[in-house]
This record gives sequence, structure tokens and C-alpha cells, in this order.
Amino acid sequence: MSTASQNDSPQYEADAALFGNRFATAEVPSREFPASGMTAVDAMRLVAEDLALEGDPARNLATFVTTWMEPEAQRLIAANLHRNFIDHAEYPRTAEIEQRCIRMLADLFHAPGSTTGARTQGSSEAIMLGALSLKWNWRTRRGAEGAATTNPNLVFGGDVHVVWEKFCRYFDVEPRIVPLAPGKYTIGPDDVEPHIDENTIGVAAVLGTTFTGHKDDIVGINDLLVRIKQERGLDVPLHVDGASGGFVWPFLYPDSPWDFRLEQVRSINVSGHKFGLVYPGIGWLIFRETADLAPDLVFEENYLGKTDATFTLNFSTGSAMVIAQYYNLVRYGRAGYAYIMRNMQQNARVLGDKLEAMGRFEVIGRDEEQLPLVAFRLAERGSFDEFDIAWQLSAERGWMVPAYTLPPNAQDVTIMRALVKETMSREHVDTLARDIEEACTTLSRKGGAHESERRKVVTGPGH
Ligand SMILES: *Cc1c(COP(=O)(O)O)cnc(C)c1O
Repeated sequence: MSTASQNDSPQYEADAALFGNRFATAEVPSREFPASGMTAVDAMRLVAEDLALEGDPARNLATFVTTWMEPEAQRLIAANLHRNFIDHAEYPRTAEIEQRCIRMLADLFHAPGSTTGARTQGSSEAIMLGALSLKWNWRTRRGAEGAATTNPNLVFGGDVHVVWEKFCRYFDVEPRIVPLAPGKYTIGPDDVEPHIDENTIGVAAVLGTTFTGHKDDIVGINDLLVRIKQERGLDVPLHVDGASGGFVWPFLYPDSPWDFRLEQVRSINVSGHKFGLVYPGIGWLIFRETADLAPDLVFEENYLGKTDATFTLNFSTGSAMVIAQYYNLVRYGRAGYAYIMRNMQQNARVLGDKLEAMGRFEVIGRDEEQLPLVAFRLAERGSFDEFDIAWQLSAERGWMVPAYTLPPNAQDVTIMRALVKETMSREHVDTLARDIEEACTTLSRKGGAHESERRKVVTGPGH
């Protein structure tokens, strides 16, 4: 009897309905729009079994994005999945909760007075909106002087996230990218100065780069822009990309200024779903003052009988993560966030110590202010490299630790990076360190990974 006819037999169908689910043996629908449906239980099992093959989030040290929240937060999320965030008229409490989050973040970032901001899908949307505001404000300034508004440029380092280049391409702005160099993975005022002119809509600086977790010299860049304002009359705004660092620096380095304490910092983005400790997707854009948001970007709309002002790229979206962010802010407060950040920092230090003690690795920028992560590379290239280690570690133990090359002109530098998040306990750190050591031992024995294996390694710094 062929397998097909066996599965088609009425007895098999009856047994499957009683004891199992049809995808124990049948192929899953994947191309054609299904002609008929299936039971809810079958559908649930089909999807769940597919996803069982995903990587394990607890061993994913590549992503900055939150992979765990408290059960109470999860209950709130589950109870609020049906609510469309943009329906302010119907859901005024959700709108108020968004505003509370914006006010609290403005306070955390030392905004001098009352201000404004927006909930976004993540830092990418926040950066698109913030940079659009830079462009609109620049055009208004230039227009008032009767000057040309045809060649805007934006200055940033090669250490930024790809979204900044994306903004420039999508919205027709010339990117002026300061290259990195071997051993120099962030930028400062001397790098920025030659690129600034009357067509510069702004400078973007990073607080906690994706690559090594360090910050640009934001104080130095601010001082440069203040001087340019005084000497040349050019008021060039500074936007801080705090996607990762915005929820880290206020708690680990409260006395290190990077935010609205600095005069030229006009807007900040932060990902709630990174160290804001909320599931994806939630991000925030916060302006220094209400006037920093270009008024033409705010749409007054008459929707369902109520006038509403929106400043977003999307329209309909969930409200559960806004609510989850508010939960975290009130649940943890400054004390709770500081406690969690310090734990992560302490475990990152232990991991760094252990990697150094192995004698094979150089840990990058340990003594500087940094996100809770360990960026490291082989001190010497032997019979294997960082990509081999990433593969071996994933094959032997399922850890996802990315290996990647840095942006130009540091493209010959390969590093590995392990995020040490809230769920990474001391026991996990100890185990990971042992597993890295063992992976290196295996690799030395076999003289490196095979080419066919290496191609499977997921590279890139993740996000
Ligand atoms: C993650 C990240 C982004 C993009 O943020 P999303 O929230 O994923 O859209 C932008 N900039 C930096 C520095 C980041 O780390």
C-alpha cells in the first residue's frame, strides 16, 4: 500500500481525528491559498510545530530585542491585543498612557520643559520621523534666509545602524558618513567638523553602537556644534540614536551627559523593545522642546468625528506594547531599571574576565562606558577564526553568538559579540564561557571549520 493511499483511507482519517493531527504525516500548506480549512486545534499545532524549530531565544546572544517579560506583563499584553492604538477617540486611556510614557522618558532624558514625542514601531520609525523633522526645520531656516533648499546633507559615523543610510536614500538627503578605522569604532568632533556646512540638516550620534556597544563622543560633538553656532551662526541640531543606550546610560552612567543636558541635542530615539525591556515592537521619539518637531509633519485629521493630530509613518497598530512599556516604567522605576542594568553589567564583566583569562581573546573597550555586552576577537589568528567559533558554538551547544566584520574602514576587523541580557544568569555566563573554550579546543583539534560548515553561520551584528 502506498503512503498516499494509506493516509487517504477512511480508517486513517478517523484515527487521525481521534488520536492525532493531520500534519503528523501530511505536508503543510505553503503555496496555494487553501481550498478548505482545518480545525482550530490542527491549525494551532501546525503553526506551533513549525516554530518549534526556531532558535532558542535564551541562547540567542545576537539580538538586542527583549525575549522575556514578566508573567503579569504578558497577561496585560494578552488582554490588550484587540485594541487599535491609533483609535484615540475610542481608546482615550491608551492615548493618555502613551503621553505618560513620553513625559517620563523626557524627564529621564532631562528635557528642560514641556515637550512632545511619539510612540513608534521601533527606533527605525523614530529615526525616520526625527530625521524628517531635521530636514523640514532646515528647509524652514533656509527658506527664511531666502537660501537654496536643494542639497540637504546629514552627518554621521560608519558606526550607526543601517536605518540612517536608509533614511537618506528614501528621503533624498546626502549622507556624509565618517569612516571608522582599525581600533577606532566610534566618532568624535574632529571627524564631524569637516563635513558640516550650511546644508547640514543635523548630526546623528550613537549612544551604544550595535557593533561594540560604545558611544560616540557626544559631549565633544555637542561642544563643536555650540562653537559653530557661535562662530559661524549655523545652528546644527544633534540627534542622539539611543536605540540601545537610551535605557542603559541613565541607570549605569547617570553622571555622564549625552541627552538634553547638552545644548545642541534636539531629539532622541530609543527602542522600548531593547533595554526598555518590552517585547517588539515599540520605540520612542522624544524632542527637546515642542518647537523641535516641525509643525508641518503633524497631521490634523478629522477621523470618526474627532479632530486628532498624528505624527507617524504607520496608522493602525497594536496598543499592547505601549501598555507593556508603561507597565515596565511604573513596575521598575529608576531603582528597578538600575538593578537590572547593574546585574547585566556585572555578568558581562564576568564573561569578559573569563574570556580574557583564556588567553586567546582580546575584549574590546572594556574600560569604557558600554552597553551590557562583551565584544571580543581572537588576539591572534591561528588555524581558525571568529566565524569558525560562531559556527562551532552553535553546532555544539546551540548558542547564537554572531561574528561579523566592522564597517569601512575597519572592514578587516572581525569581532564576536555576546549580549548579556536580563535572562542571562551567572550560571549561563559560566556555561557559555566553558562552551566557548570547548569550541576552541574542538577547532584546534580539527584545524578550523570546513568551508561547507562556515557558510551556515549567521553573520551580521543582528539588532
Ligand atoms: C536597533 C537599532 C536601531 C533600529 O532600531 P529598531 O528598534 O530595531 O527599529 C537603530 N539604531 C541603533 C543604534 C540600534 O541599535
